[in-house]
Amino acid sequence: MVSVALMWLMVGMTALSAVTSIVVLGRKGWRKGLGAVALAMLLVGLLAAVQMLSPPAARWSGLLVSCLFSAVLGCLVMALRQFRQLDTDWRWLMLAPAAVLPLGSLTLGAELAPVLLYAMHAVFAIQLGWLALELWRMRALRLGTGYRMLCVALGVFLAGVLYLQCGPSQGLPQEAAPMEQPLLWYWARTALNVVVMLLLTLGFMRMVQDRREARSRRAALRDPLTRMLNRRALVRALEHCIKDAGRQAHPLALLLIDVDHFKRVNDTHGHISGDKVLRHVSRVLASNVRSDVYLGRFGGEEFVIVCPGTGMEEAQILAERLILAVRSSSVLIKGHALQVTVSIGGFAGAVGAHTPWETLLEAADSAMYRAKASGRNCVVMHRQLPVPPAESSTPLWRESRA
Ligand code: GH3
Ligand code: MG
Ligand code: MG
Repeated sequence: MVSVALMWLMVGMTALSAVTSIVVLGRKGWRKGLGAVALAMLLVGLLAAVQMLSPPAARWSGLLVSCLFSAVLGCLVMALRQFRQLDTDWRWLMLAPAAVLPLGSLTLGAELAPVLLYAMHAVFAIQLGWLALELWRMRALRLGTGYRMLCVALGVFLAGVLYLQCGPSQGLPQEAAPMEQPLLWYWARTALNVVVMLLLTLGFMRMVQDRREARSRRAALRDPLTRMLNRRALVRALEHCIKDAGRQAHPLALLLIDVDHFKRVNDTHGHISGDKVLRHVSRVLASNVRSDVYLGRFGGEEFVIVCPGTGMEEAQILAERLILAVRSSSVLIKGHALQVTVSIGGFAGAVGAHTPWETLLEAADSAMYRAKASGRNCVVMHRQLPVPPAESSTPLWRESRA
C-alpha cells in the first residue's frame, strides 16, 4: 500500500511542478489557456492527494476522484478554447463533473452500479472526444511542436487507458479494491499520468510561446501605420522574385509610387491628417492590385509593388490604373474632401537571378525622378536595367499619363 501512496505522491508532485512552471514562466499566457491548464493541474494534484490520503476501499474517494477527473477534462477543453480566443462559459464545461456526481453517488448502492458506471464512463468519453475535437479544429493554425506535444499527450493517454483496460484510470472499481491489481499496473498508470501531464503542460506553454513569436515575426514585417508590408518584407520579396524570374526567364515588374507634394499636406493639415492620407492611399492601392503581387510601404510617402511574371505592357496598364484610382478618390480631412495624386516610376523586363535588388530600385527611382520632372501624376517606366551605353540599343524610357 505504501508503494501506491508513493506513486500518487509522484503524480501530485508532478502536478504541483507543472502549476509552478506555469505561474513562473507562463504568466503572459494566463488568459490564453495557460490559467486553465494550471487549474487542471491543481485539480490533478488534489485528485492525487485524495487517492493518497483516503483509506483503501473507500467508495466516496473514488466518487470524488471521478468528479475531479471530469473537472480536469473540462479545464483542458476550456484551455484550448481560450487559446483560440473563443468565448466559453465555464458553466457548460462543468456540466460533466456535475453529472458525474449523481451518477457516481448512485453507484455506491450496489445493484445499480454497473449500468451507472458505464453511464459515468460515457461522460468521460464524451469529454475526451470534445478535447480531441478541439485539438482537431486547431490543426489549420500551424502551431508546430507545442501542438504536436498536445496531440501526443492525448494519444498516449487514450492508448494507455485502452492498454490498461480500465476505462478512465480513476474509475470506482479499482479504487474500491486497490490491491487487486498487480503493482506493475500501478507503476504503468503512474508513468502514464506523469508523461501525459508533462507533455500537456510543456506542450501548451510551447504553443503559447510559439504563437507569440510567430506574431512578433509577422509584426516585424508589417508597417504599423498602414498594416502593409514594410521595407524589410518588400526587400525580401523582391530578392525572392528576382531569383525566381532569373531562373525561369520570366519578366519582373517593380513600381515605385510616390505621393505628390505630400509635404504640403503635412504643412497645411498637420501630420495626423498626413497619416490619414497615407492610409487612404494604401487602401486605394491595395484594392486595385491582384493578390499575387507584393504591395507595401517602402518608407515615408513611398509605396512599392513587386509584380512577378509581369512584362512592360501589363505593368504600364497597372500603373495607369493606380494613378487614375488615386486621383479619382478623396479622403475626408477636417470635414473637407481632399484629393491627392501619385507619380509612378517603374521597371519591367528581364532580370538575372543574381541581379541585386538595389539595381531594380535604382531603375525605378530614376524613372520616378523623370515622372516628377514631367509634372507629376504620371507614369514613367524603365525598359531595361542600366547597361553600358555602347550595349544599349533600345530607348530606356517609356512615359504615359493616365
Ligand atoms: P514630391 O511631389 O516631389 O514627392 O514632394 P513631396 O512633398 O511629396 O516630397 P518630400 O520628400 O519633399 O516630402 C515628403 C514628406 O513626407 C516629408 C515627411 O515629413 C513626410 N513624411 C514621411 N513619413 C511620414 C509619415 O509617416 N507621416 C506623415 N504624416 N508624414 C510623413
Ligand atoms: Mg518621396
Ligand atoms: Mg512625394
